[in-house]
Amino acid sequence: MSASILDGIKVAEKVRELVASDVSEWVQKGNRAPKLQVVLVGSNPASHSYVNAKTKACNEVGVESDTLVLPDTISHNELEEVIYSYNADINTDGILVQLPLPTHIPQLAAIEAIDHRKDVDGFHPMNVGRLTIGQPSFKPCPPAGILELLDYYSIPTKGKHAVVIGASNIVGTPMSVLLSRESGGAKSTVTICHKFTRDITRHTIDADILIVAAGSPGLITGPMVKEGVVVIDVGINRVADHNREKGYRLTGDCDFDSVSKKASWITPVPGGVGPMTVAMLMKNTLLAAKKSLYPGK
Ligand code: NAD
Repeated sequence: MSASILDGIKVAEKVRELVASDVSEWVQKGNRAPKLQVVLVGSNPASHSYVNAKTKACNEVGVESDTLVLPDTISHNELEEVIYSYNADINTDGILVQLPLPTHIPQLAAIEAIDHRKDVDGFHPMNVGRLTIGQPSFKPCPPAGILELLDYYSIPTKGKHAVVIGASNIVGTPMSVLLSRESGGAKSTVTICHKFTRDITRHTIDADILIVAAGSPGLITGPMVKEGVVVIDVGINRVADHNREKGYRLTGDCDFDSVSKKASWITPVPGGVGPMTVAMLMKNTLLAAKKSLYPGK
């Protein structure tokens, strides 16, 4: 078997087109354009490139965006004051604090400082809690984008065994919640693996759907999966490559060549989950502007 490609570039474009048309309708009704405020601390090159992709998408769909770049010497209290000022600003709909933050700033405290009604990344405990019990909430963009991709290609999830590799708050854990929910979710049976899981092959080999978000290039190889598996590779790893102008290339967590020979569907890296993540951020920002998730608050 040779896998078909789950084309994140194409599907993300379709999502952005829908968002752009909704934004235009929203503005034609007399509302101001949705606004996303990005806060970027420090000079991490990967973070800067992610933020560029996000603000470029904002331009495309008609969302206004502003990026505040702060030095990595900023204190936790100073950062919180900045966030509070955006919480109070009625012209700011969504706030995104680009992660990771410098190690002296407690990440969760910075996330908790964001008004949950503007938390378009879906990382605030209020949104995480509401997601877990099936209440309307901002959904973290990578898992939401993955479900959108599966849905676009009509890949069945109900009753399937989904194995998630990685248990982070950003990807693995919310992914497992969204996949497992009986109502409003994907209705799968979920196994979640992390770095303490013994013998991950015992789990991956049984997966109908395998979501890999470990940040470990080449972690999953062909012999670890069964024929016909649907593979979603979330990993984005910079691997040194002196043949490339930048000196590196991007690769996922799966050995694409061997895994794609057995899979029925697979996401490429780049061009799979990444563009979907950005597209879902646009969707969340529009939801924030419309106050769809927290009406009247
Ligand atoms: P993280 O470092 O916060 O978490 C990694 C998780 O993987 C942990 O739960 C860890 O226990 C587990 N893990 C690590 N090595 C493992 C191993 N050998 N076996 C089993 N489990 C293992 O990372 P994260 O923020 O969840 O991101 C994971 C990857 O996804 C990274 O490569 C990141 O760049 C990428 N990512 C991509 C997108 C996207 O839009 N495509 C978005 C977010 C993150």
